[in-house]
Amino acid sequence: MNVNRAYLDCNATAPLRPQARAAVLSALDDVGNASSVHAEGRRARALVEAARVKVAALAGASARHVVFTSGATEAINCVVSGRAWKTLMVSAVEHPAVAASVARSSADHIVIPVDGSGRIDVATFATLVDCVLGTEHVLPADALIVVQHANNETGVVQPIDEIANVARDRGIRLMVDAVQSAGRVEIDQRRWGAEYLVLSSHKIGGPQGAGALVATDDAKIDALLVGGGQERGRRAGTENIAAIAGFGAAAGAARSDLADISRMADLRARLEAGLINVAPDAIVIGKDAPRLANTSLIALPRAPAETAVIALDLAGVAASAGAACSSGKTTRSPVLAAMGIHNDIAKCAVRFSLGWATTEDDVSRCIDAWQQVNRIRSGVRDVA
Ligand code: PLP
Repeated sequence: MNVNRAYLDCNATAPLRPQARAAVLSALDDVGNASSVHAEGRRARALVEAARVKVAALAGASARHVVFTSGATEAINCVVSGRAWKTLMVSAVEHPAVAASVARSSADHIVIPVDGSGRIDVATFATLVDCVLGTEHVLPADALIVVQHANNETGVVQPIDEIANVARDRGIRLMVDAVQSAGRVEIDQRRWGAEYLVLSSHKIGGPQGAGALVATDDAKIDALLVGGGQERGRRAGTENIAAIAGFGAAAGAARSDLADISRMADLRARLEAGLINVAPDAIVIGKDAPRLANTSLIALPRAPAETAVIALDLAGVAASAGAACSSGKTTRSPVLAAMGIHNDIAKCAVRFSLGWATTEDDVSRCIDAWQQVNRIRSGVRDVA
């Protein structure tokens, strides 16, 4: 990491953990196809299976249910648009990977609304589900509920235990997007009874290009990739051993970090207090809801997010314009729109997301840089 910069964009991608780096390099230095029976193949197989155990432990799942993929996007595509669901019930604040998969599917699409803090109201949700099952003559087995555990823009955490209870009581399958919550709050696929759960390696300090679909034995999967029958026939293709080994190492480390999550919460509290101190009218979005300890989405009125992000970058701080998780694009955030946040505020939302490598110095640097953003804002107002 560059010590002259503060990297506060871990929800986009987290720095590679040393354990993951070591595992990747060691795997790259070896040879072997995990399907081969010779010693080299068995070594490769052992790496994959060791990683599977660690990823399963992070997800609160059985190792046999972990299917390695190229990332969470692939896992989401496989579940949402890779099967002929009759009805998809999808929260209004899902990641674009979900939204685009839903758009591609021919299933009926029902939006699960969120309140002003970005959370699903469980009673409203239960009524909606009953309505769909009752009046639309949808069989529970043909419907899928898709809910993220925590939001990538706001960090707001959904009441997932209660949501899972509603799904289980009615026999509807549930997919939980745990990409952002992994390693930041406890995830427990078994307790939730979620048939599907998705994870991403690079959000937890593993390498990019690996992810997992956790799918129970009776979760139906129409494999996107067919061929050699790898991953119990659920995802064919020679395994990306180095990336999987790194993912496993990151999963082990991320799980250990959970015990020390208060460190992250303290850093975030210092950051938010410092930013508000510089600009008391700044608005922390989702502040009163349960949030991931690492995420802060903050809007400085009259400071467009793109301008703020550039000013921060020039001052040595990497952050992102609220919605721009994937590409730096600055279209209106559907997440903030679903929360009913006025566009004048939404377009000023800057996301800071901390990670395992974030230090006190990073936070101080960010607070200093924010003064620059605040000054630019004064200029914007004066011109107007
Ligand atoms: N789901 C959420 C909540 C995300 O934040 C992301 C990453 O941007 C994804 C899914 C997609 O993950 P991946 O980059 O592994 O495809």
